[in-house]
This record gives sequence, C-alpha cells and structure tokens, in this order.
Amino acid sequence: MNQEDIIKIKAELDMPRSICLITHRNPDGDALGSSLAMKHFLEKFNQQVKVILPSEYPLNYAFMAGIDECHVYDLNQEECLSIIDKSDMIFCLDFNSLDRIDKIGLNVQESKAIKILIDHHLDPEPFADFVLSETSASSTCELVHKFIYLLEEEKKIDVTIAESILTGLITDTGSFKYNTNAYTYQVASDLKHRGVDDYGLQDKIYNCLSEKQLKLLGHSLANRMEIIPEYGAGIIALTKKDYIDYDIQRGDTEGIVNYLLMIKGIEVAAFIREQPTIVKLSLRSKGDISVQEIARNHFNGGGHKNASGGAAYAKLEDIVARFKNVLPKYVKRREL
Ligand code: 5GP
Ligand code: MN
Repeated sequence: MNQEDIIKIKAELDMPRSICLITHRNPDGDALGSSLAMKHFLEKFNQQVKVILPSEYPLNYAFMAGIDECHVYDLNQEECLSIIDKSDMIFCLDFNSLDRIDKIGLNVQESKAIKILIDHHLDPEPFADFVLSETSASSTCELVHKFIYLLEEEKKIDVTIAESILTGLITDTGSFKYNTNAYTYQVASDLKHRGVDDYGLQDKIYNCLSEKQLKLLGHSLANRMEIIPEYGAGIIALTKKDYIDYDIQRGDTEGIVNYLLMIKGIEVAAFIREQPTIVKLSLRSKGDISVQEIARNHFNGGGHKNASGGAAYAKLEDIVARFKNVLPKYVKRREL
C-alpha cells in the first residue's frame, strides 16, 4: 500500500459509504479483533459499517465490544449477501483467498465495490484493489494498527479500538510467545499507553474454559495423543464419538494443538478432528519446518509457515495415515 493508495482511500472515507468488513470462517481472536477494531475506527468517520462473519464465533470472544452486531452468514445468508451487494467498500481482513469465506467469496469477487485486503497469510490471491499484506506481521490486528497510522488517523484510536487490536496481537502470538517482530512490541506499547487493560484482556480471553473443555484437554492428552519421536512429531486425533461424548462445540478445541509442542523435541504437531462432515486439521511447527507447505500440498489448506490448517473429506484414520506418510518429505529423520 503506497502513498497514492492511502490518498485514494482517505478520499473514499471522506464520502458517506456503505462499508462491509469480512473475515474468515471460524473466526479467531485476530479475525474478530481486526474486524471490530476496523468497525469502531470507520464508524468514527460516520460511515455505515457492517461486519460479516462466515460462521459463528467462539463464545470466549463474546465480551468483545460490537461483536453482537456482527452478521453471521451461516445464520442469515440472504441478509449477508444483500449487505455485500449494497456495499461500496469491502474490507477483507485476516484471510488471503476467497475460498476462506465460502460462498460469500463469489459475491465479493463479483461485487463492484472497492476492495481492500489487510492480511498476514502467505500467498495472497490478487482479488483486491488495495492490499496491505505482510507475512512478517504478527497478526492482521498489527496491520490494522499500521493502516490507521498510514492514514494519519491514530488520534481516533480509543480504548475500545486499542482493546480490539490487542486481542489479535495476543491471540495470534500466543501471548507474545511466537510470531512477534520488533514492531509488534511497539504496537503493544502504543496500545498500553492508550490505556488498555492488558491483564484483564488476557484473563477474559484465556481464563474462561468450562469444566467440560478442561476434561476434553485431559482426554486428548491422556488418550488421543501419539508421539513419533524419530520425526519430532506429535498427533492428537479426536473421533466423532469424542465430539458426542464431550459435547464438543465451536471453539472447544482451541489451543489443544499447542500442547504437543510443549514436549521436548517435538517440532511439528497435528491436531486432527473428525467433525460431522469433514476432517479438519490444525498444524503447528517450530523453526524451519513449514506446515504451510504440508497443509497446502496435502490437505487443501494453508496459513502461515508455523501455523496452518486444512480439511479433507475422508476418514479420520486415512488423514492420520496421510500425515504420517508425508512427514518424511518435510522433516529430517533423527537418530534416537
Ligand atoms: P487453526 O489451526 O488455528 O484453525 O488455523 C491456523 C492457521 O491456518 C490460520 O492462520 C488459518 O487461517 C489457517 N487455516 C486453518 N484452516 C485452514 C484451511 O482450511 N485453509 C486454509 N487455506 N488455511 C487454513
Ligand atoms: Mn491472523
């Protein structure tokens, strides 16, 4: 995004616009944080702003300001498509390809609205008119902060916007444990200067598990974990029956994959779950191992080098076997 782009975007925002913000399916803290930060920010220009989520959000984010005004495509498809059709500007936040927003992708593609992509995933598709895409950014929220500064509108960042932005920084970096760069801390510092309650925010995001979720974590680690030491790999695979036994709902499995990387020597982790219609994978890695390549090449997915995901219509055991089979292509075998 160059100076010329910024001038054009500023000119757009000087006129009354219908603006639609869209983020990816199964929105996480960064998807929600970037969308809501942008919503609160654009509303300060007296714009009409609507947020569309392709699917519902995890309930631990219910505290976020403005989240109850979001429109969920899965719950009201016609309304969401009509919002897109009436929009003059569409912001695409925290996703890099239109297939990440399901059927809405077609409407976005065909829309004549000005499209602005703000994202930090690898390989962005060229569908937007203006692009702020940096794969080295910790989060899309970090880029939303940058975008506001590029517009020289940082005075508009109030505590609500600051808290929304910090939510994405915290969740996409695992509370500043990975994915950070020097600028990430500058952003965090700026937000703290503006008065965000960062301890309270971390508490709201993370200390909200139900008893059921903690038991599911225990079950995943005690009964569903497999370690492959010669490839420094760990797998947790949940079955359809686990979904029933533990009444697993959206968001209940969030974060389980990260536990695998806590084992000494484990550098690649797969959390594979058999959902009602599809088998979903979450992949994580350390250092140079690219789970993005594994997700892209074998599981119709993508994401980031060290955090990716994918999905397949197949049997759970076949997907587990596929993951094990492809491991040697991406990870050197070790002498134990
Ligand atoms: P998670 O494992 O937390 O669902 O996702 C980790 C990362 O992988 C996120 O950045 C997400 O955008 C990406 N990702 C997850 N699932 C998919 C998928 O099915 N397709 C693609 N392209 N990316 C995914
Ligand atoms: Mn993100």
